[in-house]
Amino acid sequence: MSVHRAARLLAGAHRAVALTGAGISAESGIPTFRGAGGLWTHYDPIKVASIDTFMKDPQAYWSVARERGPAVLAAEPNPGHYALAGLEQSGHLAAVVTQNTDGLHHDAGSIRVIELHGSGRTVQCLDCGTKESRRDVQQRLEFQMPPRCRICGGRFLKPTVVLFGESMPPGAVADAMQLAEEADVMLVVGSSLVVYPAADIPLIAVRMGTPLIIVNAESTPFDSLAEVVIHGQAGEVLPELAYLATMPGDG
Ligand SMILES: [Zn+2]
Repeated sequence: MSVHRAARLLAGAHRAVALTGAGISAESGIPTFRGAGGLWTHYDPIKVASIDTFMKDPQAYWSVARERGPAVLAAEPNPGHYALAGLEQSGHLAAVVTQNTDGLHHDAGSIRVIELHGSGRTVQCLDCGTKESRRDVQQRLEFQMPPRCRICGGRFLKPTVVLFGESMPPGAVADAMQLAEEADVMLVVGSSLVVYPAADIPLIAVRMGTPLIIVNAESTPFDSLAEVVIHGQAGEVLPELAYLATMPGDG
């Protein structure tokens, strides 16, 4: 059975790397961007979440954020997040590399988390550089649109996430690639693997001959390269995987 096969691979791993995408966050109630019912079926991403539009009209961005923000900020880790934290604690997993910006891996107790698309937990003033919590800015949206910097009054408060048209933080990308090169198992969770360069990360591992495990609700373009493909929910599959991989006397 594929879960047992994947668990055996993880049981023998000491520096596995997990790459997580929107699928694992969706199970915590965070609306996804792509796919059926995704955010981008309601909004045009180029209009709402590109750096060009943001610089022209931050209010367009924050109007959507006013609607979407509360659900994101209220979200809590699900059993999939906790299972990955457990695999790190038990010495099987070296790090989580994530395309998500919601901070739920940190909340679940994961120590080493590489956020390829930045973090939505903080907001930075593009004029003076001051950072403040997204939660505080979110509260101001009810009476201030767009929100202003509390220090300099600047009107370009940008979440510390990668918008369309921006490049990913080079340090995070370099860390992720190095982790992928050194990985002894690559575990992809809840990512459709259609966004580059994030999708390059499992490819690096595959080229090194590292076994690839994919846990995703739907098929991905990389399924044929994987050692094990499990179509299912992260919140159901990962706890079972972690349990089997860390059972005493197994692996
Ligand atoms: Zn400022």
